[in-house]
Amino acid sequence: MRYIDEFRDPEAVQRLLRRIGERARQPARLMEFCGGHTHAIGRFGLRRLLPPPVQLLGGPGCPVCVTSSRDLDCAIAIAGLPGVILTTFGDMLRVPGSAGTLEHARARGADVRMVYSTLDALAIAAANPGRDVVFLGIGFETTAPTVAAAVLQAADRGLRNFLVLSLHKLTPPATRAILDAGEVHLSGIIGPGHVTTVIGSDAWSFLPRDYRMPCAIAGFEPLDILQAIYSLVDMVESQTPAVVNAYARSVQPAGNRVAQQVMQRVFQTADAEWRGLGVLPASGLALRNEFAPFDAARRFPVDVGPSGEPPGCLCGQVLRGVTPPPECPLFSRVCTPDHPVGPCMVSGEGACAAYLQYGEA
Ligand code: SF4
Repeated sequence: MRYIDEFRDPEAVQRLLRRIGERARQPARLMEFCGGHTHAIGRFGLRRLLPPPVQLLGGPGCPVCVTSSRDLDCAIAIAGLPGVILTTFGDMLRVPGSAGTLEHARARGADVRMVYSTLDALAIAAANPGRDVVFLGIGFETTAPTVAAAVLQAADRGLRNFLVLSLHKLTPPATRAILDAGEVHLSGIIGPGHVTTVIGSDAWSFLPRDYRMPCAIAGFEPLDILQAIYSLVDMVESQTPAVVNAYARSVQPAGNRVAQQVMQRVFQTADAEWRGLGVLPASGLALRNEFAPFDAARRFPVDVGPSGEPPGCLCGQVLRGVTPPPECPLFSRVCTPDHPVGPCMVSGEGACAAYLQYGEA
């Protein structure tokens, strides 16, 4: 198949759904790690089309949502320091920390600017040599290489006023944490397509090896997702867990070596705090010592005190797959995209926003 329409062909979708229905004899609880998958599943109505034994659960794959309140509080504190310009992608502006958002900080006078790429942040640094321009580094292995490339570019250009507050996170440790906790009983994992394009499908081999957990890497079109679901159901039925690459047009077993090298050149693994999962060892990325002058966490060691979750918000449970968004008492009544209480309703990859947008309540 070469064109996007072919991956949405209704007859092919029906055929695949029939095959899934014929193969699924026992319950299959599948977690889509990626928030992009949660949105695609909602957008194409796939959850409702699947046969009853197949159940889909959302996971922690929304980088904005898993950013902890403490990290957000630090970003807000840094944004308020004299001479700082804090640059960030749009989603982060409205995510609530313990006492407000970056948007609120901007209203109080902080210089917080929305950017569309790291190149925008570099341009702001070049245009403001007397100011410290901090880029809020949010995202998984998909975005970390672009931020690493920006640090290398800043070093090349001598832009010593460009800094990164690295809140990047790694996806395999979070998946391990969910499985180790045993809080949700899963039959298989729908692997994140974009992340796996970078890290490679081999990076998920620990799932069948250590947990006897099938994994199928999926793209973001209906046939991509259904093909991955069929593969998972098939492995559940035959009890032959493996990693299946159902997104071969983008994902290679070893991933994107160039992106990995850039990421590894600038970052090293570090412990990171995840909303809903707590502090996970070696699940984040910090700048290497060599790039310390570009590290906002070292330049601005702010102390924000105790942090807290938005009252009543169940985002932590949503991100662990324990609670579907509609079961949050605030969902759609108090918490809406116009007045979000938690990050899962703010982000374009948030599960609560997806369920509300696509009428899956
Ligand atoms: Fe949090 Fe709102 Fe989702 Fe409830 S509906 S979990 S308050 S984002």
